[in-house]
Amino acid sequence: MNIFRALEQRSVPSGYFRGEHSWNLPGITCSRCGEIWATTGVEYPSIDISELFGLKELEKRWVVGVEEFIKLEQTILDKFPQIEIVTPGSSFGPLVGELKGRNFTDFVRFVPWTLLIREIALRALASMGKLNLPETVKVQFDDHEFEDNVFEFQIMPKGTLVFDGDEQADVPPCPVCGRRSNATPRKLKIHADSIPRNLDVFRLANLPTIIATSERFVNAVSELRLTGIEFEEIEIVNS
Ligand SMILES: [Zn+2]
Repeated sequence: MNIFRALEQRSVPSGYFRGEHSWNLPGITCSRCGEIWATTGVEYPSIDISELFGLKELEKRWVVGVEEFIKLEQTILDKFPQIEIVTPGSSFGPLVGELKGRNFTDFVRFVPWTLLIREIALRALASMGKLNLPETVKVQFDDHEFEDNVFEFQIMPKGTLVFDGDEQADVPPCPVCGRRSNATPRKLKIHADSIPRNLDVFRLANLPTIIATSERFVNAVSELRLTGIEFEEIEIVNS
C-alpha cells in the first residue's frame, strides 16, 4: 500500500474557480496562549448548519472565546454524527462562486486544500467501480455559463501526519484552546495505523490542508488521463 499527496498540476494551463463555502465557523481567541486562530482545510460541503445558529450569526466572521467555541463545536458534533472533527474556521455548505478563464482541467483549480472535479471526470472515476470515493457536492455558480457541472469532494480528516525531531519537535498543544504551532515538515510522513481503509481520498487530521489519496486513486486518474492533478508519495511510518 502506498499513499500519495494530491497536488495541483501547474504545468497544464487552466481556468479556475473563485468562491467560498456557504458558512464558516468563527476563529478562536485564547486567554491562555494569547493567539487568535482558525484552521484551514476542514470543510463539510454537504452539511447545512444554518438552522443551528441562524444565518445572520454565521455570516459574521467573528472570533469567539474558547468556551463559546466548544459549545458551537458540541452542537455540530451532536447534530451530525458523521463528523468527527470541528475546528475554528471550519467551512460548511456548498461552494458558491464563479469560474474564471477557459479550458478547464478535469480537476478544476481552486485552493490547494479543496478538490473540485468536472462531472464528466467524476462519472468516469465512479464508473471504474473499484474506488471508495468521498461524497461529492455540486458547486453553485453565481453566473453559470460553463458546459459541465463541477463537484467538490467532501474530504474527511482521517490520517495523522508524523511530526518528528528532524523538522520541528512536536510542541504540546495549548492546554486551553488546543492550538499547535508545528511547521509543515519538509518531508511528509503518515502514521500507518491512521490510514483509512475505506476511503481512497482523505485529508490529514492534524494538517487538514494536505489531501492524501490511495494508490488505487492515482492509478485510476492515470488510466483515465485526467488532468489538473499530480501526486507525490507520502512516506508511511509504522508506529
Ligand atoms: Zn490557547
